[in-house]
Amino acid sequence: MKRKKLLSFLLITALLLSGCSVSAMELSTTSEKKRAELTAKGKPFWETQPTKQAGETVTVAEYDRPLSYVLQYPKTGKPAIDSRIEAIVNDVRNAFAQEYLPPAAPNGETVRENKTEATLYLGYEAYLTEEKMLSLLFFDTTETTEGMSPHTRIQAFHFDLEQDQELLAEDLIWEGFAENASAYTRSYFTTAEPYCDRIFGNYNTLLAVENGLFDRFAFTSEGVLFHFDRYELFPGSMGIVSLLIPYEDMRAKAPIPEEEISQPVSDRKMVALTFDDGPNPIYTNQILDTLEKYDARATFFDLGHLVEKYPDVVKREDALGCEVASHSYDHKNFDKISDETILADLEKTDAAFRKVLGRSPNAFRPPYGNCSEHVKTLIPMPIYLWSVDTVDWKSRNANAIIHEVTKLGDLDGRVILMHGIYSATAEATAYLVPYLQEQGYELVTVSELIEAKHGETPENGKIYGYYYFQ
Ligand code: ZN
Repeated sequence: MKRKKLLSFLLITALLLSGCSVSAMELSTTSEKKRAELTAKGKPFWETQPTKQAGETVTVAEYDRPLSYVLQYPKTGKPAIDSRIEAIVNDVRNAFAQEYLPPAAPNGETVRENKTEATLYLGYEAYLTEEKMLSLLFFDTTETTEGMSPHTRIQAFHFDLEQDQELLAEDLIWEGFAENASAYTRSYFTTAEPYCDRIFGNYNTLLAVENGLFDRFAFTSEGVLFHFDRYELFPGSMGIVSLLIPYEDMRAKAPIPEEEISQPVSDRKMVALTFDDGPNPIYTNQILDTLEKYDARATFFDLGHLVEKYPDVVKREDALGCEVASHSYDHKNFDKISDETILADLEKTDAAFRKVLGRSPNAFRPPYGNCSEHVKTLIPMPIYLWSVDTVDWKSRNANAIIHEVTKLGDLDGRVILMHGIYSATAEATAYLVPYLQEQGYELVTVSELIEAKHGETPENGKIYGYYYFQ
């Protein structure tokens, strides 16, 4: 199920390993020996793609109510390893059953009303090194009557196929392992397309060693493979993202991450609040009430068809000094439609803005943040993404939205993504505006922030992405 997507994101960087000798230290355990072999190897291991040589795949498909299971795992033919794998699968199964099984009624019968039906999906990838070391990655996710979970749990396990035993990750990694992975991923994801424009603004925190994202990995023939789940580092539309770090870089001294784009021009502390998907006659107006009360500015990325429907709300946004920008006509994914459809959409949206405000929108935010290198050449406006995602559309909870902002500490120069169509967002805004002002932040529009912080006049067709708004 997830395999195709995973593979398509898998970056294969074939690099010959430099001969690096390990001092003749005492190696007491198998894990330590394996580690020494891995780090001392002078040539690549022999698999990069997930291997089929880990054994046969066991498939379990049980369709039942309320719980169904679709599970795949390998059977290696090694008794100890296979029983450990079965235990891992059972753990996942039991945790799922505990979460979704209806509580038993006092008389011993199962209560079924109002209970969602759920399916557990478990898949795996196997990687084998030349030394017969097997790394297994398990991916599990659930689907309920409410839909597919946006999250996939990724778990990693390692085995010595020759010795028929499990190897613990903490025994396998070497000094500086997580630190090197942290520095490499930060440097890579903030410079390589398409990651650099999509990575969440707080990537330094997310990719810090303490955050644990480097605890789950696979040893492959060419390097250490890391997976990042949806919303861990990137918007959900990016799927699960994988990065293979060559062994050479995992051993080397940590590279210094690229310098941030430019030094702040202004010392004024600034934050730009942004509200997408409106205007909404109720909630946008509540947000505007707050902005008016505290004399604050924000940017609204409005949809053309709603601009036509609620012109008075748009006029009020404009009258309060807010930036009124475009979020397309009706929220199509610009990476998935033809150039003609994009141009027609832009024209229609432009007409809606001109009719209501007497001018074109001054900036654009693509629906879902999706804007390929090609699409951006079609946009006659600067393209503004964000650096803090409140995930308000998902939580619909004011406290959760507030927490997403306040937990970050320093917010200077950040652009905060919210949606002006939820009651919870309006409620959170009523708290956040005075809170941010008390912290000394000026609430400005995105264009103002770019000009003040970067000394730059926003350029048409340029994406101002996640790491721009730091
Ligand atoms: Zn949107």
